[in-house]
Amino acid sequence: GIPVITLDGPSGSGKGTIAQLTAQALGWNILDSGALYRLTALSAERQGVDLADENAVAKVAETLDVRFEARTPGQPVSVILMGDDVTLEIRTETCGAMASRVAAYPLVRAALLQRQRDFQSAPGLVADGRDMGTVVFPDAPCKIFMTASAEVRARRRYDQLKQQGESVKISHLLNEIKERDERDMNRSNAPLRPADDAVVLDTSDFSVDEVLEKVLQIWSS
Ligand code: C5P
Repeated sequence: GIPVITLDGPSGSGKGTIAQLTAQALGWNILDSGALYRLTALSAERQGVDLADENAVAKVAETLDVRFEARTPGQPVSVILMGDDVTLEIRTETCGAMASRVAAYPLVRAALLQRQRDFQSAPGLVADGRDMGTVVFPDAPCKIFMTASAEVRARRRYDQLKQQGESVKISHLLNEIKERDERDMNRSNAPLRPADDAVVLDTSDFSVDEVLEKVLQIWSS
C-alpha cells in the first residue's frame, strides 16, 4: 500500500514543523489532523452551534466544507473554509482550546475518521496528530511519537505566537499546555499515547534539523 509516516505527540513537541519538513524532504502529502478539529470548532462557532451539543458539532464535522491548497509542494498550505481563507484564524490559542474541546467527542472523532484516511495517496503521507498511529493509520509502517518537556513546548509556542503577532504570557502558555496535556491524555476516547510499535523521540534538546534527520533515519531504517 501507500506508505504512511505517523507523527503523534502533544502540542509544542514540534511535530507540525517536522511533519512539513519530512513531507517536503520525501515529496509526500501531508495531513494536519489538528486542523480538522480546529476547523470543526471554528465552523461550529460561526454557525452558532453550541459547542456543548455533541450531536450538533458532529454534524458540523461531517459536513465540513474545507479545502487545503498547496501553493508550492512542501510549503505551508492555505486552509479554505466555505470559500473563506482561515489559515491564520485556526492557529489562535482560542481556536486551539475549542478544538481540544470538540476533539473529546467520540461522534466528532468518528465523523472525521474517513476524511483523514482519504489523505493517504501516492507517493506517501506524513500524518500529523495525536492518534495517527493508534487509530487512524494503525497499519502504518513507520510510527513516531514526539515529546518534549512542558517548559520547552511552552517556549516554542511562545516564539510561534510572537511571530504571528499574538502576545501571550509564557506562564499562561505553560499552564494551558499542562491543562491540555491532562485533558488529551486522560480522555476516555482516543487518549494521547504512543502506539505500541511507535518510536518515542524526545526533542527537548534537539534542533529542528537534528529532529528531521532522526525522523528520516527512522523512516529509512
Ligand atoms: O495539533 P493541534 O494543536 O492543531 O490540535 C488541536 C487540538 O485538536 C489538540 O489539542 C487535540 O485536542 C485535538 N486533536 C486530536 N487528535 C488529533 C489532532 C488534534 O484530538 N489527531
